[in-house]
Amino acid sequence: MDNIANKGFKINSKDGVRNTIRNFFLDSLTAKHYNAVMLPMMVPSRDSYAWIIIKDPDILKNADPIAPIMPVNAAIALKRYTRKGKGKSKIAVLMRPCEIRATIELAKLNQVNLEDVTLFSYDCPGALPMQDFIADPKEKTSVFDKILQDQNWTSNAVKPICQSCDNFSLPATDVHFAFHAENIYLIPNSKKGETFCESLKLDPKVNLTDWMNNITQINAKKAKIREKDFTVVKSMVEGFDNLQETFANCIGCHNCGSSCPICYCRQCYFDTSVSEPNSDVIMMRAQDRGGISLPLDRLMFHIGRMAHMSLSCVSCGLCSDACPVDIPVSKIFSYMAAKTQKTFEYKAGANIGDALPMKEYKIDELGELGKLVKSAEVQESSSE
Ligand code: SF4
Ligand code: SF4
Repeated sequence: MDNIANKGFKINSKDGVRNTIRNFFLDSLTAKHYNAVMLPMMVPSRDSYAWIIIKDPDILKNADPIAPIMPVNAAIALKRYTRKGKGKSKIAVLMRPCEIRATIELAKLNQVNLEDVTLFSYDCPGALPMQDFIADPKEKTSVFDKILQDQNWTSNAVKPICQSCDNFSLPATDVHFAFHAENIYLIPNSKKGETFCESLKLDPKVNLTDWMNNITQINAKKAKIREKDFTVVKSMVEGFDNLQETFANCIGCHNCGSSCPICYCRQCYFDTSVSEPNSDVIMMRAQDRGGISLPLDRLMFHIGRMAHMSLSCVSCGLCSDACPVDIPVSKIFSYMAAKTQKTFEYKAGANIGDALPMKEYKIDELGELGKLVKSAEVQESSSE
């Protein structure tokens, strides 16, 4: 957040956060800045939300830009839209910061095309746990409204992973809505965002120092909660016996993988027939160990997933929401992700320009082999 102190514009916020943002997109759609806007909208049964690509301003009036829950990570929705290319339309998408981070990771993996997409984000109050919301949507909506109104960034009504999220503001987005006291600021955060904000001919820029200081303080508080959480998670996952015990009640439904924006393989090995040995092979394994638990490979599924995607885990919490037996999957994955990302000096979704460690290697990472490669390269270039 170092270079944005004087970059924001104050926008008229007299209608409150939700209405201001909804009207902002309504104006953008009507003025044809975008051909469509992607926002969450309550489903007809009024107990969940869906992502809608909206072209009709009348429909946009019913959208809820800041939904209390996050049933699907927006990166998955956007992936579905741009999977076969960018299309002919310019669209604006409003997401939570963790959804922006997931989108950035997917863009690096060629799963999302951002060419004609403008990413908007906002200071995120967190999302309520799905099961809490479904149990009483009306009452939980008022709980969330109050959190939003009070700008209560440390509420313990939101998902545990959100309570400890120290990345809840200004991700690598194009335009960010910042909330501070009764003010809403619009912050361009990329060339694309700057061009868009210039086209709006907004009032003079404002100083964002107070807002930035506030965010820094809250991030520090949340980082402490995260540290505390990780101490508990460490004891749950370090060592094979602990890991086995933690996932002992896993029913092998794979919901955690299906809901994860980063688990993007079209065909997961654990859902193929190759991972389903026949009865004789199963019996052989039972013979070797004295017995075998079914469904097979439940722990292997999690270890495989950790190895596969922990470098890109963005701590969105979707996996925990999807788990029917309340395993704190997101805290566990977040803990593993913090470790692997630190090892590779990488932060998932922080910057579109940072290469994915698995796609780009640094010669020094290879130790002795790296030195041999380097000297071979030198010899080759000197003999050319
Ligand atoms: S592992 Fe869980 S917390 Fe991490 S990105 Fe996937 S769904 Fe989100
Ligand atoms: S969602 Fe829960 S029960 Fe299902 S596979 Fe994942 S950890 Fe196991």
